[in-house]
Amino acid sequence: AKHQGKGKYAIFDPHMHQQTVLRLNLENNLRKALEENQFVLYYQPIINLDKLTTEGFEVLIRWQHPQEGIVFPCDFISVMEEIGLINDLGEWIFKTACQQLSQWQNQFNLPLKININLSVQQLTESIIPLLDKILDIYPIQQNTLVLEITESMLIKDFEGTNNLLSQIKQRSIQISIDDFGTGYSCLGYLHQLSVDALKIDRSFMNFSSSKNHNQVIVSSILALAQSLGIRAIAEGIETEEQRQWLISQKCKLGQGYLFSPPIAKDKATDWLNFQRL
Ligand code: C2E
Ligand code: CA
Ligand code: CA
Ligand code: CA
Repeated sequence: AKHQGKGKYAIFDPHMHQQTVLRLNLENNLRKALEENQFVLYYQPIINLDKLTTEGFEVLIRWQHPQEGIVFPCDFISVMEEIGLINDLGEWIFKTACQQLSQWQNQFNLPLKININLSVQQLTESIIPLLDKILDIYPIQQNTLVLEITESMLIKDFEGTNNLLSQIKQRSIQISIDDFGTGYSCLGYLHQLSVDALKIDRSFMNFSSSKNHNQVIVSSILALAQSLGIRAIAEGIETEEQRQWLISQKCKLGQGYLFSPPIAKDKATDWLNFQRL
């Protein structure tokens, strides 16, 4: 038993023990997953709501576990952060997604965009040489790589982050604020930053009559984006009613199950082929 001071001893707790073993197992399996290339990227189309053309894709990671099948990012991204592997994973994501993007841009001769989610630990000075390396290896068109960051990443160190963002922008890479409206929304910062787009969180897409205020919030975000001269992308569009309403509010872009869930690269290539017909 573990000594807890003052003559108290914790009794061996089989449940706690099980938790610890599971967690250690997960950590080991994640290290192995990185070494053995068990991660895969899925791509969710970002759609022009009116014309129904594809503007690009958001990259969403999956873990193809040899026994468990597909594991979703909510079950491993935070663990990768805690065990210090998120930067290695992040580098693999950049390489894989940018290689795919350059291939699609060549094959389809379209200025397709790709949105990559950033973890807070990736937004440090070391991202600059990494981006330079990636852009050097994979020729992608200017302003077609978009990094999605959350508002919480801006809060800690506004000056430092703002400085990083301008270095990123100098490389013709765009910045999008993810999950906009859910967290620390401090509108004051927006005009000081070189942000290119706001992504309206899918929690606001619930338009049932009792949640009518969600429509007010979405309209306000759209007006804000318009006044700043930046794009707005609605997430989590599941119904035609939502699409129509968003169009009526002058929202140009969106993604969601109505159009497509995130899909593997071959399916995404089929999607682009079909779109060209
Ligand atoms: P997110 O960036 O807000 O991604 C949107 C999530 O909404 C995705 O979940 C997507 O599959 C889901 N989604 C898309 N359309 C719909 C819809 O119409 N209805 C509903 N209910 N859901 C929809 P996913 O793929 O499980 O990703 C969850 C979160 O994990 C992401 O939230 C993002 O924060 C994180 N994540 C995913 N991929 C990466 C990555 O490559 N790097 C990092 N750092 N984080 C990632
Ligand atoms: Ca995102
Ligand atoms: Ca989001
Ligand atoms: Ca989210």
